Amino acid sequence: MDKVPSQLVKPDFDTIFMELADNLAKRSHCIKAQVGAVLAKDTRIISIGYNGPPAGTHNCDEEFPEEGCPRDAKGSCSLALHAEQNAILYAVKNGSNIEGSTLYVTLAPCIACARVIYTMKIARVIFLNSYAAYKGIAVEEGVEFLKRFGVEVFQYGSTR
Ligand SMILES: [Zn+2]
Ligand SMILES: [Zn+2]
Repeated sequence: MDKVPSQLVKPDFDTIFMELADNLAKRSHCIKAQVGAVLAKDTRIISIGYNGPPAGTHNCDEEFPEEGCPRDAKGSCSLALHAEQNAILYAVKNGSNIEGSTLYVTLAPCIACARVIYTMKIARVIFLNSYAAYKGIAVEEGVEFLKRFGVEVFQYGSTR
């Protein structure tokens, strides 16, 4: 087969948005987990987010460089909004309609975010890494919740 010139190989939007989410994760000031998210609809970006305490409050890496983020009972940063929450809140604050949109996120949603995603009628969630594997828990609880109630969810790069 003839080789296709590289400038003719176009990345698909799933790849473009997931790479952006992955880059956004690097902006997170949290120490343990760095997660990025992109909310998109019809190949256009509605909002972006990464995990961290609300703007104007804390920067975990600067304030707690040795001990790390203050932990909640589940071992997560107790100060941070999750990437999905930040993306959704920004959209809602600015009056964007996110119903039917697709959420790209570098870590599968936790159960708390899954409840918000479902409530906001986001239609599709594409995640990069497993939350269950990251947390060392048996079930992908956020993903299971979303699937049970009709939200399309799959792992980026997996065959559907
Ligand atoms: Zn933190
Ligand atoms: Zn979450």
